[in-house]
Amino acid sequence: MDHILEVEHLKMYFGGVKAVDDLSFYVKQNELLGVIGPNGSGKTTMFNALTGVYKPTDGKITFNGADITGQPLDSMVHHGISRTFQNLRVFKAMTVLDNIMIGDSKNIKTNLLDAVIRTPKFRKYERESREKARELLSLLGLSKWEKEYVGSLPYGIQKRIEFARAVIVDPDLLLLDEPAAGLNSKEAENLMELILYVKEKMGFAVILIDHNMKIMMSSAERILVMESGRELAVGLPVEIQNDPNVINAYLGGE
Ligand code: ADP
Ligand code: MG
Repeated sequence: MDHILEVEHLKMYFGGVKAVDDLSFYVKQNELLGVIGPNGSGKTTMFNALTGVYKPTDGKITFNGADITGQPLDSMVHHGISRTFQNLRVFKAMTVLDNIMIGDSKNIKTNLLDAVIRTPKFRKYERESREKARELLSLLGLSKWEKEYVGSLPYGIQKRIEFARAVIVDPDLLLLDEPAAGLNSKEAENLMELILYVKEKMGFAVILIDHNMKIMMSSAERILVMESGRELAVGLPVEIQNDPNVINAYLGGE
């Protein structure tokens, strides 16, 4: 089966709030699935329930053939799932290179003792990790900022660094929650181009939450439309654009 992710009857309730309510969908290998829906329709909560930020109220999540329902956020990277958050998460007081290497340390196969006494195993890991981080920075056009403190760089560059941190672990599936938020339309386009370029180079699937319909229509292979925690529609961009339910509920009936 070419479905890398299978979500079945996912529910995430907060008391009486049904943030995600009986949602089922899949993602194919190397596919880009777009997710749209009004504010509060459960998009971010769906990511949180998938990645173990919250334990789902009900439902089943299968990834690469394994049941990962309710597993903690820390374990996601080992399954091959990586994500960014709706609010930018970078270490502003650290250099660009260190930010990327910290991202990679989620993958670390040495232990704390190795790190503290700097065993040969740890130094080898560190060297390899630095090389890998430099390669990625070069791929992303970020090399010239390698030694800069992240906090001193423009917001658009910080967004790219966050993206780099998410992909350094070589994920099979990357979850992006409004990566272009706060960027102007040119910057948003550039970031999206970069995301698509790296996706092709490295080969991973993406679930992209975004409000920008132009970006969504041109980059998503399929689109899932959410409303009140449920699926309103799912299909090819052209099908979504012409879906009467979507037009009425979301695109404003034009
Ligand atoms: P979206 O990302 O589509 O804008 P969210 O997933 O952030 O929507 O929110 C969906 C609904 O779930 C909202 O009504 C929100 O208030 C609620 N919600 C999200 N997280 C929590 C939480 N931790 N506790 C209570 N309610 C929450
Ligand atoms: Mg959200």
